[in-house]
Amino acid sequence: MVLFVTGRCDRSCWYCPLSSERKGTDIVYANEHPVDIPAQMIEEAENMSALGTGITGGEPLLCLDRVILYCRLLKEHFGTEHQIHLYTAKAPGDDELGQMKGLVDEIRLHPPYECWNKILDTDYILSAKRAKEMGFDIGIEVPALPGLELLIPALPYLDFLNINELEWGETNAYQMRERGYELADELHNAIEGAKGWAEELCRHDKVHWCSSAFKDSVQLRERLKRIAKNTARLFDEITPDGTVVYGVLEPPLVQKKVCTQFCEQEFEPGSFEVCGDRIELAWWLLEKNADDLPGKKYVIERYPNGGMVVEVTPI
Ligand code: SF4
Repeated sequence: MVLFVTGRCDRSCWYCPLSSERKGTDIVYANEHPVDIPAQMIEEAENMSALGTGITGGEPLLCLDRVILYCRLLKEHFGTEHQIHLYTAKAPGDDELGQMKGLVDEIRLHPPYECWNKILDTDYILSAKRAKEMGFDIGIEVPALPGLELLIPALPYLDFLNINELEWGETNAYQMRERGYELADELHNAIEGAKGWAEELCRHDKVHWCSSAFKDSVQLRERLKRIAKNTARLFDEITPDGTVVYGVLEPPLVQKKVCTQFCEQEFEPGSFEVCGDRIELAWWLLEKNADDLPGKKYVIERYPNGGMVVEVTPI
């Protein structure tokens, strides 16, 4: 699960990928769902049978108390084996590390671009050493930018170094254009040349490359599939992409009762559900019985658990 704990951040990296919807806000999201109370986060983790959680932001250490609270709840609910990693652009000191000990398993430091050329003189190395001594797994995670090889001297102090392919987004597009960067193709958010900047660093064993396509499609699809498996109704069809497909009937109000009775008589229990003024049912049942069911009829494909609608096809 991705737990976004705040959109606040005291840095202003020009490549920041945060959406304008989240940037600067103080709302918590578990995957795509806003969280008002911690129980909603546990519910989302349950829905996807989460094996671990990535704490992200904004800057999570600006709300350390919140991070501690959520991590404690996750560990209490799922057990200590629920792996938790935390992203931060700060270099946490002894006090912050002490508070996270036993709750956060792994810390992913994001040293800002401006300090890569003197990485050994920064607090990030001190922080990495202390974190290691205290039992955390410690690494660096940065976007692919020219000059990545400046981070090579940091490798002996780290368990891993992750490079994320630089991504074009609505909030950094102007900065990207200013620097002369271009999209690699029209389908993805990846920047032309980003992989080349990472080439030298990627020769080292501890270094991992995460492509934009992998993050966009493979990780998202796997997460959707897990959520769909746990939350789909009997009549929801789960697609290979992890979305769900079902039919919707909006009968004229005066005929709603007749339509409900028709469904009760003709269909197996569990193959339809009355949801307010609409009846939701297996899409193929709706298609097959379209002539007997008056009203507006369509097939919906959406992210599972009431998520974003991908497509609506009228019948
Ligand atoms: S530290 Fe992260 S969240 Fe903050 S501005 Fe930089 S990229 Fe954005």
